[in-house]
Amino acid sequence: MQGKIIKGIAGFYYVHVVEFGVYECKAKGVFRKEKIKPLVGDNVEIEILDESEKKGNIVKILPRQNELIRPAVANIDQALVVFAITKPNPHFNLLDRFLVMMESKEIPVVLCFNKEDIATDPQVKELESIYESCGYPLVFVSAKEERGIETIRELLKGKTTAIAGPSGVGKSSIINILQPEADMETGAISTKIERGKHTTRHSELFAIDENSYIMDTPGFSSLYVNDYEKEDLKYFFPEFRKYEGMCKFNGCDHVHEPGCAVKAALEEEKIHKIRYQNYIEMYEELKNKRRY
Ligand code: GDP
Ligand code: ZN
Repeated sequence: MQGKIIKGIAGFYYVHVVEFGVYECKAKGVFRKEKIKPLVGDNVEIEILDESEKKGNIVKILPRQNELIRPAVANIDQALVVFAITKPNPHFNLLDRFLVMMESKEIPVVLCFNKEDIATDPQVKELESIYESCGYPLVFVSAKEERGIETIRELLKGKTTAIAGPSGVGKSSIINILQPEADMETGAISTKIERGKHTTRHSELFAIDENSYIMDTPGFSSLYVNDYEKEDLKYFFPEFRKYEGMCKFNGCDHVHEPGCAVKAALEEEKIHKIRYQNYIEMYEELKNKRRY
């Protein structure tokens, strides 16, 4: 039988099998030879040891699509990045850092702005003007009034999604709406995410329907790793890509170089000032990065 590891605790792996529920499994010796440790998010083959007790063995790990170290998880299809339109106002620098990190890991992003119920039109327009040209799917929602949640549900369908964002923006509220009531399900759902109740923060996936999973990623900043060089940063700003090869100098980093197509686009307001400023800030940081 095939399933997905949704949780791993003390040598046990909890494997969710669509329509059959969750099995408590051990990893058999085969992996030790291959030196692969099962990860939350792994798609695995299991053999059932005891159906009534819901116990089994993991006998095979299927090939991984990707793998994150912090949090330790495999096969993340996308990230749902949640910020509030207001209260708190978006911290653009933090948001752009997060987007860069996801770009560097080639994980697609859906950008979700919450608290539409208390937002003004100009606030929404500003966010659209910044992020639409970057090509990220944008969703404006109100968890409070349960508006836009169906759009999110559609975007999460059939995928494993890491949900991230700073605190206070309404992540828990959105996650609560997305998770079906446990008793409506036939054992397919493990437990509900209870934010803030855990002191140990292990990765855990939650099934929101039979083939869609979400993972809460507390500790926004711990996700940030700048394991790339300043010359690579430009590739993680999708709106810069269409100017590639149009700058005067080969390998232009779009900073001080003359004849830069990205800076020309900035002048023409085709690239947003805030995004460019954050690019420069991150670039300078990478330039000054201490190496040990
Ligand atoms: P988290 O820290 O990101 O998990 O955010 P919470 O879900 O705990 O919400 C933080 C605060 O924002 C709480 O006081 C919520 O009641 C409030 N909140 C969440 N969603 C909305 C929304 O859509 N509209 C408004 N006006 N407030 C919201
Ligand atoms: Zn350039």
